[in-house]
Amino acid sequence: MDIQQKIIALREELNEHNYKYYVLDQPSISDYEFDMKLKELQQLEAQHPEFYDPASPTIRVGGMVTKNFDTVAHEHRMYSLDNSYSKEDLEDWEKRIQRILGDVEVEFTCELKYDGASISLTYEEGKLVRAVTRGDGFQGDDVTTNIKTIRSVPLQLKGDYPPKFDIRGEIILTLEGFAKMNQERLEAGEDPYMNPRNTASGSLKLQDSALVAQRPLECLLYSITGSNLGISSQFEVLEKARSWGFKVPTVAKLCKSTAEVMQFVEHWDTNRHHLPYETDGVVVKVNSIQQQEELGYTAKSPRWAMAYKFQAEQASTVLNEITYQVGRTGAITPVANLQPVLLAGTTVKRASLHNADQIAKLDVRVGDTVFVEKGGEIIPKIIAVDFTKRPADSKPTEYITHCPECATELIRKEGEAQHFCPNDTGCPTQITGRIQHFISRKAMDIEGMGSETVELLFKQGLIANYADLYTLTKEQVVPLERMADKSAENLVNGVAASKAIPFERVLFALGIRYVGETVAKKLAKAYKNIDALMAASQEELVAVDEIGERIAESVVNFFSEPTNLEIIDRLKSYGLQFSLSEEQLENQTDKLKGQIFVVSGVFETVSRDELKKLIEDNGGKVASSISSKTSFVVAGDSMGPSKRIKAESLGVPIISEQEFLQKLHA
Ligand code: AMP
Ligand code: ZN
Repeated sequence: MDIQQKIIALREELNEHNYKYYVLDQPSISDYEFDMKLKELQQLEAQHPEFYDPASPTIRVGGMVTKNFDTVAHEHRMYSLDNSYSKEDLEDWEKRIQRILGDVEVEFTCELKYDGASISLTYEEGKLVRAVTRGDGFQGDDVTTNIKTIRSVPLQLKGDYPPKFDIRGEIILTLEGFAKMNQERLEAGEDPYMNPRNTASGSLKLQDSALVAQRPLECLLYSITGSNLGISSQFEVLEKARSWGFKVPTVAKLCKSTAEVMQFVEHWDTNRHHLPYETDGVVVKVNSIQQQEELGYTAKSPRWAMAYKFQAEQASTVLNEITYQVGRTGAITPVANLQPVLLAGTTVKRASLHNADQIAKLDVRVGDTVFVEKGGEIIPKIIAVDFTKRPADSKPTEYITHCPECATELIRKEGEAQHFCPNDTGCPTQITGRIQHFISRKAMDIEGMGSETVELLFKQGLIANYADLYTLTKEQVVPLERMADKSAENLVNGVAASKAIPFERVLFALGIRYVGETVAKKLAKAYKNIDALMAASQEELVAVDEIGERIAESVVNFFSEPTNLEIIDRLKSYGLQFSLSEEQLENQTDKLKGQIFVVSGVFETVSRDELKKLIEDNGGKVASSISSKTSFVVAGDSMGPSKRIKAESLGVPIISEQEFLQKLHA
């Protein structure tokens, strides 16, 4: 087989695996095997740029940056839907339809109304050529680069598809994917996102498509427009789209009457909570395309379709108490403790109140009857107070001024919504919180130890920080509540085993605010050992790719705290990994040491990310903007003119991708 055939075969194979995994949810090879094949393809494509294909599965990893999204007109307008809220509304609609169509039989297709961001995809000759947001319905933003990273969007269709058509659908985040993203943000000390829908729609407008690629977005399709498509019904649209490789939910039903439609609605009104994504209703469409054409459109929406909106998932209940939680970084979160109430299939006892401003805005008080709502948030939130039920003796809520755990006066920094307990070395909850983070699975992964054990050990005065874990003896642990000989031994062994955990995870475990898993990896790679990292100034840190002011400041603060330095010294003496291993360093050289690169544009033989990795692996640094400190700008295709002017005016040399690679291999 020649190289071109090999590349084509790999692309087809990987596209098929993507399809099985992301569209059918039926993977047939392991993630590892998939990654190896993808790597192989990436390498071949890098060596043979002449076989470039915008539909190659290697596009999925992203890396292209869009500064401004172009506005594009929709060839076919994207309409809104009329809403209905009751059986009567639906019956009225059916009568209107019958009046226009006369005495003929009308069938309906029922689908779920997915709650995300609408998108219109244009396919020509089986390839995705454009993806545009709904915008105002007449024109939207071209977000093709970002959409291409979504694995369930086919880049190349299969089967017997029309030469040109638009297909519409919804970009969503699954509840599971959303919860995972938030978990990661919380671990990094960042505020969680509010709900899956806004997060999905915000994701489409991220400038760096590599970031989009990391989000677990999905695309659910539901309609096709174009001419001469040879399709005669909406139900056929769904089946056809599915056969061409699109992800079309199988929850859809062909109904003969509005009575049958109501059965579908009622079933999903209660069962939607078991779906992996959020829905806010049912969309009912006249099935026959010919009848749809006869019915036509009003100024805003098709006459042949109707959204049936589910009742919002709200409940009202009494607020018994407001308590305040202290996180490991000292952030205070007010929590509403509620009279238990059934909401969206679960009993709710607590709701988030976010911060002091939120409490003031809602004017919520203990004793109030409040409305709680459950969206995609991890815990429900209070959306309003029922003022008609406010007790006569009610008093405005006074936000706490002192830490509920250690009585230290709280502070609130300029521009921050959250209050903080500044007593990070003495506040018991912060101390145990940090140790709990340290032992957690993604950090030091200490087996035989859980959150309660940490609290117990702390209460008994056996540990006051995470370094103390390493001096614990079996004899000290055995007498603790619920500890047996064996479990004590496991704990001590688990602690000892964690000394082998690699540097980047140790760095994450330290619990520096804003240093989550990904940032820890970046820093470990850029500095290679803790001493170099500790010596870095804020300016130097900011020069590292993807490290912003906020992270840099937090890192510098952490390492300027004498208690932290002392703890790190102790951890070093116990043998924890504070530098990258030989193996990690193996693929790295010092060839580019001291040089700062800015990477701009689109590259031919390597992706942007690979280019950055090459620079970092060889001791160079990647900065995000050009300054007098920049050593070289590596320019690919379509590098922005403003960057070029800036580089030229500062006298920073601009080199091509080829020149860079020659420099590296010289
Ligand atoms: P609205 O924005 O409330 O007018 O509702 C119309 C929007 O519902 C459309 O623009 C679509 O983005 C969205 N939608 C979600 N699921 C479906 C579906 N199955 N069929 C049609 N539209 C849908
Ligand atoms: Zn405190």
